[in-house]
Amino acid sequence: MSLLLRNALLLDVTTGEYTEGDLRCAEGRVAETGRGLSAPDGTRVIDVAGAHVVPGLIDAHVHVTASSADLGSLRSMSPSYVTAHSARIMGGMLDRGFTTVRDCSGADFGLADAQAEGLIRGPRLLFCGKGLSQTGGHSDFRGRGEQVHDEHPCCAGIGRVADGVDAVRVAARDELRKGAHHIKVMASGGVASPTDRIDSTQFSTEELRAAVEEAEAANRYVAAHAYTARAVNRALEAGVRSVEHGNLIDDTSVELFLRNDAYLVPTLVTYWALKEEGREFGLPERSWRKVDEVLEAGLVALERAARAGVRLVYGTDLLGGMHRHQSHEFRLRAEVQRPIDVLRAATTSAAELTGLTGEAGTLAVGAHADLLVLDGDPLEDIGVLAEPDKRVRHVVQAGVVVTSSP
Ligand code: ZN
Ligand code: ZN
Repeated sequence: MSLLLRNALLLDVTTGEYTEGDLRCAEGRVAETGRGLSAPDGTRVIDVAGAHVVPGLIDAHVHVTASSADLGSLRSMSPSYVTAHSARIMGGMLDRGFTTVRDCSGADFGLADAQAEGLIRGPRLLFCGKGLSQTGGHSDFRGRGEQVHDEHPCCAGIGRVADGVDAVRVAARDELRKGAHHIKVMASGGVASPTDRIDSTQFSTEELRAAVEEAEAANRYVAAHAYTARAVNRALEAGVRSVEHGNLIDDTSVELFLRNDAYLVPTLVTYWALKEEGREFGLPERSWRKVDEVLEAGLVALERAARAGVRLVYGTDLLGGMHRHQSHEFRLRAEVQRPIDVLRAATTSAAELTGLTGEAGTLAVGAHADLLVLDGDPLEDIGVLAEPDKRVRHVVQAGVVVTSSP
């Protein structure tokens, strides 16, 4: 299977420069780029007539199993029912131009295998299994009157509870055993959990270090959910590689990010969407009231981190019916960053975080042939990425056209 795109403007995301030319894909990879390439027999040729071509996008914070914004309700759903939802959610992501996603809790090896084997349409899936939470933490979805945990490995919840260094080690090792690409820890309270506060810290430093040690032993890393500077800073000190959300970071956080070569993955669009539509899609009232605390602060944090040179990665964290806003994150970030920097967050920087440098987020020869043919220049107008239903002409994944606009 070979695909040749003729007369494209090919973006080098690193330099921010376009080159006119052709791009040929073979066996799922970018085989060659240049002018006047020849098409071997059986090659599909598309003349894109001067269209802008960029690498397929990477969203580094999604929950493909989040069929409802009431994450606690997943526990009582049939896993097969949740999988049907996940397939649809993943197909939507691919249609928006996301050819790789990092799931930040919920997705397992089954979904990743199903995508890799072509059983379901969707982005390449980097999964962590269940996120680790302390009792009463961000992935403990019991209401106050509930005592019993259902920790059955096949239940569709997004987290598992572990208390104490030994239990955290066991939980991390168990997720790694199942092929986790990273370990997710809940290091502070959150919006979508019933009994914790946004400003709480979660897990002891020893527990966070234990998770980091286990991940590093397996050549993996830890991604930590954290909002406040207090929570972010202790997670960074414990050695996590990425901080998710980070809406309330301070100057010390910025120093720690830079010193540790750590990544910040803001997820602004989820607060925007939760504010607009959260209650409609099942977010409980008590969670909806927490949204304001973090919404405005998120943009301020992004600007502060960007100015200081912190490595920023694209994330969205959308739940339930709000997944359709995935690309609106581009527009929100463009309020404080140049379009090329926002695009880097969703390509080269996301690839660096996930260990896919040279493989994804680039049009370089040898990379996965994941790319978008666009109507317009996203470096001039971020709307080209923010409104994919109108502006993305083709999505190519592994050298195959998987979506074409009408
Ligand atoms: Zn989170
Ligand atoms: Zn999340």
